[in-house]
Amino acid sequence: MQIRQTNQESNFDKYPTFEKDIDPKQRAWIEVRGNALEINVRQLRSKLRKSCQLMAVVKADGYGHDAKVVSDYAIKGGASQLGVATLQEGIRLRSSGIKKPILILGNLYTKRDLIISFRNDLMPTISSIRECLICNNIGKHFGVKFSLHLKVDTGMSRLGFDCNKFVQQFEKIKSFENISIEGIYSHLSSADEDNSLDPKSSTQLQRLKFQKLLKQIQVDRNDNIKIHLANSAGMLLNKDFHFNMVRVGLSMYGYSPLAKIDKNLSLKPALFLKVKVAFIRIIDKGVSVSYGGNFVSSRKTKLAVLSIGYADGVPRNLSGKIQVIHNDKLYPQVGSITMDQMMVDITGSTEIKIGSTMILLGSDGDKTISPLDWARGSNTIPWEILCSFKNRLPRVQVD
Ligand SMILES: *Cc1c(COP(=O)(O)O)cnc(C)c1O
Repeated sequence: MQIRQTNQESNFDKYPTFEKDIDPKQRAWIEVRGNALEINVRQLRSKLRKSCQLMAVVKADGYGHDAKVVSDYAIKGGASQLGVATLQEGIRLRSSGIKKPILILGNLYTKRDLIISFRNDLMPTISSIRECLICNNIGKHFGVKFSLHLKVDTGMSRLGFDCNKFVQQFEKIKSFENISIEGIYSHLSSADEDNSLDPKSSTQLQRLKFQKLLKQIQVDRNDNIKIHLANSAGMLLNKDFHFNMVRVGLSMYGYSPLAKIDKNLSLKPALFLKVKVAFIRIIDKGVSVSYGGNFVSSRKTKLAVLSIGYADGVPRNLSGKIQVIHNDKLYPQVGSITMDQMMVDITGSTEIKIGSTMILLGSDGDKTISPLDWARGSNTIPWEILCSFKNRLPRVQVD
């Protein structure tokens, strides 16, 4: 009967031949929830003083969510600036029509890159007099002031002016007529650690160092200059870390970096990772599954083959350690995760069919699986989980 139907079909031309016409939900995809991003930004802003602004950090393609989508919803939620890591990320946002101030958090050190940054209305992070000079020359050439943020190192030992020399260097920087200092900032190294509220913790020491410096150069949060120190963890600690701007990434995407969660805050995950069941098989007791045969069935087992693997960004070292949700129920992943596929034990389920959708990250009913769970299982941090998803996974925006 079925074969006859297939043979009778005459209009094969209606099927698409181009990649762009393929259903993004054909295999595995990332669902990006704009509404969640907007709500998270709104909630986070409600923790800030009125005069304190929120910079949405959208580097690494918005932590894998799609930087443009994240930016749009973050701005809707009240973000007033955006932070990216690279020149390319900044240019891409500008070309997509974003008008808000954009800060490049990484370092630009060539005249060429700084000119490109200037011409795209992007603010560079400046960590030395040498770069200040280049920016001043660029500003002079165009007859305007080049807007930038200065960074000081208070304990990361990554970018930033040396804290001990900054006071003296700042005097010199103030004499440059063609730069406009829009911000002064530093970055916390350990704000997500449990002891961060302890007065002797490195986080508090970094804050005190930063405050002392601001006092010495006579800049405070009432000036027009944006003073910022806090990432998500720092922001959630308390208002002492807020100054007049905070830079939030992880919390805006829906996850708290702090072990102790603020009960008044209900952050909503903005990313769901979904996959289609591509095949179903039943194996006998004692049959091995996937490469290496690390899993052997202990009973007659029904397996669903899911079209997603480590080439999509699911860490291979999570093999056998994760679960997948379908209709409010959890199913264990079994055997080694392969490059493009993985198996799930669905024994007992009659509802899961070829073409059914299962959830790897996200929630359904009262079941939730978070990147924090994956991070724990693969001995890393949720930031790394989020930005390891590859372009092979289409990003599908929902409201
Ligand atoms: C990535 C980054 C942030 C955001 O950090 P979260 O912990 O994700 O909030 C803030 N500031 C700088 C300089 C960063 O590089």
